[in-house]
Formats: sequence, C-alpha cells, structure tokens
Amino acid sequence: MRLRPGNEAAPPLLVRRSLERIFGGSARVDQVKVVELSLFARLHGRAIATTRRRRIFLRGSAAEFFSDPVLMLHEYCHVLLQWETGSLTTLRYLRECLRRGYWNNRFEVEAREFARNHQFQLRELLRQGM
Ligand SMILES: [Zn+2]
Repeated sequence: MRLRPGNEAAPPLLVRRSLERIFGGSARVDQVKVVELSLFARLHGRAIATTRRRRIFLRGSAAEFFSDPVLMLHEYCHVLLQWETGSLTTLRYLRECLRRGYWNNRFEVEAREFARNHQFQLRELLRQGM
C-alpha cells in the first residue's frame, strides 16, 4: 500500500464566512489550506491536528473538523493569529513545550482561550446561516 500525504479540503462556504466574521478582515481564512487524513499530522504523536504557516494538517477527516467549532477556532487561531503574525515559529513552539509542556505552553493557552471565548459566536453564526 502506498502512503498518501493527505487530501486538501476547502471549508464549506458558511463555515468560511463565519470564520471570516470572527477573525476579521486582515486574517485570510481562504489562504489557509486544510489537509485531511494527513500523514504529517499522524507523525505528530496523538495530536488531532498540527499547524504550520497557512496550513492545518488533520489526522481525521475534514468533514469532522468543519463540524467542530471549538477545534476549528483553536486551529485557525494558531494559523491566523500566531503563525501569520510571526509570533509562532517552530523553534519558539518547541522551546515553550520544553519549558512548560504541551498544555501550558503559551501558544496552546492562547488558542484554547480564543476557542472558548468565540465558540458561542461561531455556533450562532453557523446556526443562523449568517
Ligand atoms: Zn493547539
């Protein structure tokens, strides 16, 4: 069997527009590539997803991801508010993990907090169909 690197998947229109509403004008949701069933994500231990600049790599399917508001907010926060601004780099992330572990590293703390603070807004946008 040949190992495939993963499939690219675009968010449904409603999801994309709702995320754009939350992340604001300068953050480009449409520039973020989402890769499902990603080999790269599977190489990252037990993580459900891993991010890089303008990329979200999912262990599972895109359909699952795009129906999970908290997870989407968390991962798009890493990409649009951390990678895109330059605050998150691979080196800084590893340094934070060594210093504080996975759960308490500042990038994870910020992404969890962002997801918590915006989950109701995103659910509401999705429910209303905008
Ligand atoms: Zn995270």
